[in-house]
Amino acid sequence: LSEQFALVDGLVGDQPEAWDVAGALPRELLAKLGAAGILCAEVPAAFGGLGLSCGANGALTAHVGSHCSSLRSIMTSQGIATATIRRFGDKGQRSRFLGELTGGQLAAVAFSEPGAGSDLSAMGTSVVSEGDSVVVTGEKKWTTGARYADMLIVFGLDEHGLGAAVVVPVDTPGVHLEPVANPLGCRAAGHANVRLDAVRVPASHLLGGGGQALGMLFTTALSYGRMSVAWGCVGIVRACLDAATRHAATRTQGGVPLADRQLISRHLADLLVAEQVSTQVCEHAARSWTAGSPDQAVAAVLAKHVSAGHAARSAATAVQVLASAGSQDGHVVARAYRDAKLMEIIEGSNEICQLILAEHALSLAR
Ligand code: FAD
Repeated sequence: LSEQFALVDGLVGDQPEAWDVAGALPRELLAKLGAAGILCAEVPAAFGGLGLSCGANGALTAHVGSHCSSLRSIMTSQGIATATIRRFGDKGQRSRFLGELTGGQLAAVAFSEPGAGSDLSAMGTSVVSEGDSVVVTGEKKWTTGARYADMLIVFGLDEHGLGAAVVVPVDTPGVHLEPVANPLGCRAAGHANVRLDAVRVPASHLLGGGGQALGMLFTTALSYGRMSVAWGCVGIVRACLDAATRHAATRTQGGVPLADRQLISRHLADLLVAEQVSTQVCEHAARSWTAGSPDQAVAAVLAKHVSAGHAARSAATAVQVLASAGSQDGHVVARAYRDAKLMEIIEGSNEICQLILAEHALSLAR
């Protein structure tokens, strides 16, 4: 992965602070990373992708996440979009849309609605076939990356009440984006609320012809998203560990480096434990995914839940160690503090993850 790491390092540099403060990522950066296949690196070479394994894509995601969670969020959305197209698209759809997405175009993924957050079964967006077209009507909220996207993968229900995922170019008449103002974290990730007013797209945009079980659509998309967020959290923890150890080793108070204070060294130990545990649980999930294990969906939930919790606690710890040195908007630990909290909400909140894990625990006990 050294080539991909170097490309990311070269293009990102020390700019995430400025992107966070400005609340925007440069479009040319996204186009370059997209065209280099970095944003959806698991897509096979046959579709123009890098064909990375789940574990290697995770390592790349963590690396991007250690620099900038806003950029990593774009990577997660692009990855969910391509995973959905790979799983549900027919041959022609895979060839066309995956080719576009490995060629530099961007996709955002729209599940959540004002009335359907944790409970996606309450989704009300309709995807109705009319001759050679599909008409999409509904409202989506907090769609990451929508402000930069060329296409949206919109999830909804067809006329029979079955699930449907449809590719909607954002310049189609009837698509209205309203940027989410002043998000708590991932401020440059381009979140937008989306209104779809009888948006008409060709029937060839309905993945696999529609008619899938809604739960199956969500499980595929969310499992990818959970893995990606989990690795992104590993990146956050690594950035916090790095910032806190450097600071504690060099900042002197009372005539000694902070690292010589036992209360501070305990923080450093906690950060190291968080980094190790998060990495291990993500690697376990990647192995389950690659092996096609029946537990792969639960392993993804476990990885996301554990890593997001460690990221949130590690960010708070790192801010504590750096104190005023890390207490300004844009600083790596200040960003981590705000960004990591949101990781406990997305792709299944803490509570939803706990419900799934508890159900799994009960199934094992039966
Ligand atoms: P609610 O569902 O209203 O939940 C509120 C609280 O109640 C939470 O603590 C929740 O855990 C708890 N709760 C809910 N139900 C239960 C239950 N049954 N048992 C116990 N507790 C429960 N959506 C997209 O479609 N695409 C995106 O790209 C996207 N990106 C996002 C990025 C960010 C930064 C954020 C903050 C959100 C994003 N979302 C996106 C929306 C996200 O998926 C939802 O915020 C999330 O699913 C939670 O839904 P909600 O906010 O409506 O909270």
